[in-house]
Amino acid sequence: MSEALERLIRNRISEIGPISVAEYMSWCLAHPEHGYYMAPGRIGAAGDFTTAPEISQMFGEMIGLWLAQVWHDHGRPAPFVLAELGPGRGTLMRDILRAATALPGFLEAAEIWLVETSTGLRDVQRETLAGHAVHWAERVEVLPDAPLFLVANEFFDALPIRQYSRTGDFWAERKVRLEADKSLGFQWARPVANPDLDRSFVAAPDGVIVEVNPLGEHVAGWIGKRIAERGGAALFIDYGAWDGTGDTLQALRQHASYDPLDAPGEADVTAHVRFRALAEAARPARAVGTVPQGVFLERLGITARAQVLARGLKGEALTNHVAAHRRLTHPEEMGNLFQVLALTGEGAPPLPGFDE
Ligand code: SAH
Repeated sequence: MSEALERLIRNRISEIGPISVAEYMSWCLAHPEHGYYMAPGRIGAAGDFTTAPEISQMFGEMIGLWLAQVWHDHGRPAPFVLAELGPGRGTLMRDILRAATALPGFLEAAEIWLVETSTGLRDVQRETLAGHAVHWAERVEVLPDAPLFLVANEFFDALPIRQYSRTGDFWAERKVRLEADKSLGFQWARPVANPDLDRSFVAAPDGVIVEVNPLGEHVAGWIGKRIAERGGAALFIDYGAWDGTGDTLQALRQHASYDPLDAPGEADVTAHVRFRALAEAARPARAVGTVPQGVFLERLGITARAQVLARGLKGEALTNHVAAHRRLTHPEEMGNLFQVLALTGEGAPPLPGFDE
């Protein structure tokens, strides 16, 4: 319930003063009782937002074939960890597992791990993936020490970001405060020196908002280290850009945008992903990309797959199928907004879909 959460946030700010945007996002999304993702009905046509795997099975099939091909190219290590971060309803993993049966030996060697903090969504995932042996973890650090093949779709956008604005040699952090009428509002804290931001945003002019995703960088760093040490590859798919500045904090509720400070816990509060920061955090793993999702899926053969599936469809089902293909790939839909970054080991074979 958002009222209870709003009260908790107000109490917190009364106690300690204005909180960072990251702390605000954590309350909204991850509070164990009232956090947005703790309720299971958020994702999909009936929820607040729809994701690529919920649009069409073709998305997960392409990712499944990519993972199987890359595993094969890496010498078919067995056993290996097949992991997904933030699996939502489990749809992507279900489609991955179905498509990957095309490569004998892959599923037999895979230990399936889902990194998920929401107990409500874990229940949905358990149902979607019934019949498969699945392990759950709250943090990547728990993943077994083995070669790692991992995917994360719309995961990094859901992690708490901090926002700053440059004023000369200093950076002011954007905070969430209580207004006189007790509603939530933004304010800028006193500017202070921050050499990390100086390094990351050399060209950012005065007044522009920049965003950092400390947890995202930590997770990418852990994955990069594991892949560099044990082999494997990771695929991060999300809205955002290689490099970028500006305020991208947004909230979605019932497929419409919303003020991020309204109804905490009842809207999906996210930010665009700055892939460059993830790629740099993942060293010594080799980062490949980004490429636009539409280009990536076309290179993996989504159009041929769409044609095969279309043969069995007619009427409204066919219309929906054609629309889903367009939605995933077209530059004016998800094709350009969503970008794909891969990680793999130094000296590992070229990755499909990246024109290496
Ligand atoms: N990948 C899914 C769902 C995206 S929504 C899809 O494409 O449909 C974001 C997902 O990340 C949810 O499953 C949410 O519970 C999970 N999540 C958010 N923060 C997390 C964290 N810190 N650790 C693990 N999972 C998290």
